[in-house]
Amino acid sequence: MRPNEERASPTTDLRGRTSRTELSVPGELIVASNRQPYRHEYVSAPPAGRRPSDEAVSDSDGTATDGGFVDVGRNRDTQPARSEITVECPTGGLTAGLDPVLSRSGGTWIAWGDGEADRAVADEDGCVRVPPGDESYTLRRVWLSDAAVDGYYYGYSNRVLWPTCHELLEYVDHRPDDWTWYRRVNREFADAVVDHASEDAVVWLQDYHLGLAPRLIRESVPESVTIAQFWHIPWPRPSVFGSSPLETTLLEGLLGNDFLGFHIEEYCDAFLATVDSHLPDASVEYASGTVRYDGTETRVGATPMGVDAETYDRQSRALDGSRWESIRSRYGIPDDVTVGLGVDRLDYSKGIPARLDAIERLFERYPSRREAFTFVQKATPSRTDIPAYAVHGERVREAVGRINDRFGTETWQPIVYTEDVISREDLCALYRYADLLVVSSLLDGMNLVAQEYVASSVDGEGTLVLSDRAGVASSFDDAAYTVDPTNVDALADAIDEALSASPLERHRRMTRLREHTFARDLEWWMTRQFEVISRLHDHEHPDSETAVTDGRNHLSDDANEPATDADSSNSPSC
Ligand code: ADP
Repeated sequence: MRPNEERASPTTDLRGRTSRTELSVPGELIVASNRQPYRHEYVSAPPAGRRPSDEAVSDSDGTATDGGFVDVGRNRDTQPARSEITVECPTGGLTAGLDPVLSRSGGTWIAWGDGEADRAVADEDGCVRVPPGDESYTLRRVWLSDAAVDGYYYGYSNRVLWPTCHELLEYVDHRPDDWTWYRRVNREFADAVVDHASEDAVVWLQDYHLGLAPRLIRESVPESVTIAQFWHIPWPRPSVFGSSPLETTLLEGLLGNDFLGFHIEEYCDAFLATVDSHLPDASVEYASGTVRYDGTETRVGATPMGVDAETYDRQSRALDGSRWESIRSRYGIPDDVTVGLGVDRLDYSKGIPARLDAIERLFERYPSRREAFTFVQKATPSRTDIPAYAVHGERVREAVGRINDRFGTETWQPIVYTEDVISREDLCALYRYADLLVVSSLLDGMNLVAQEYVASSVDGEGTLVLSDRAGVASSFDDAAYTVDPTNVDALADAIDEALSASPLERHRRMTRLREHTFARDLEWWMTRQFEVISRLHDHEHPDSETAVTDGRNHLSDDANEPATDADSSNSPSC
């Protein structure tokens, strides 16, 4: 069934997000992720130091995107002695998308309890019923010490796994205890899952923080339990894996899954080849994307993740020009200049320095762009406790200063650089009214910003310059100006070409980008994931109606097909 064929009347959830489909969830659902869907905080509590969850943006899976968490209500009855407690929830991304699914199906969500008041509202097992006011599933919190967070999150996850998977080994910083913490925290998550797993359970793990948990869970639950995971970042080539400090134990951990999902086929192939060359006892069947190892059969498949396109579209349409005018005046952008845009976490994988070099090259090669084009770079500091991130932030700021000093005039700044926290409305206004978005990631699992830009480009006037190493590039094809992000000259030329495109050409390209973005949105992605998981789960439960069919393409086929008219029937034109 095509995703859009299932669409019923829209319903609106707590966050104002529109949901159209009733996903069919097999068995008893247990989701596990680093981030939690609800966080409890003391209203009057002073900030207790920065936590990873304070970052305005996500790790990779969009779980804390769109400005992070929003206050959704207060629980005045709890902890009156200390202060009021407020409940916050993320306003976008996967967490916001999954929450209504669990609300409908019931089940359990296991995540790190990082809120100051999380313990105060949880029972002795760390459980609290959510969503607030409409309690329908259990949030089970895993408690982590500061040392655990430093070793597991800031350590192994983000100093070793992140740079290795992005094939940027020069950023790997392997501290001796981090691997131990990663194993311990994965054990904590696995134990929590086991506590809640009945014979009919379906466990769905999210991302690279939980690479060892699947096998640990597998060893302690009935065979009938289905375990699946989505890996939201790239998977490196086997040679890169071999040159990194990554342990084969990680491969063994991931092969505890019945299903392991990646965004694109390239990452699936790299994973299979890595297993093939580094785990001699595993048997890899490339055609069907199946690995057999230590009694488990793992299916590997690609489903590119999308964004909540309709919500971006709706919020962009609701804007009037005044918000854009106020942004222009806030940042001193003259009315008659065209505007390019970059929106990124300050992460070395995003290729911001080469992008800035390309802007500089643009002004060198095409002098007519001077005083006629301004590039707005919205950057969000991220993982600043990790030295490589702090150094990278400095490098970016210095490059901005250099270019502005070189070309700026009294009335025009070539680059407007801001680390301000901006509202969702301002983000939509930037997306809708900027003439161009540049995504120049050196490697990127998918890149949600590119899709958000397209979904918000309701006038059809924007253009997208896109790294050929972003996962989304394989979906967008030549509708974007696709370019090697390390080739500064080519990047400068692509920016100039995109800015020079006729209104007709822009419209033509944007229409195609929008068709794809709406046909392959977040809901489509979740539907596909649950379809695959259902088939595997039904296979373990022979009395069920459907059965798993062999073949990699059967698991991931729709992900690789071009969007059809039926898929895109709901995509609003620009
Ligand atoms: P990554 O997950 O590696 O950060 P993505 O582009 O896939 O990269 O996702 C980033 C998410 O964070 C998007 O949903 C985007 O809206 C949000 N985001 C990124 N930068 C900012 C920013 N400066 N301000 C607000 N939101 C941002």
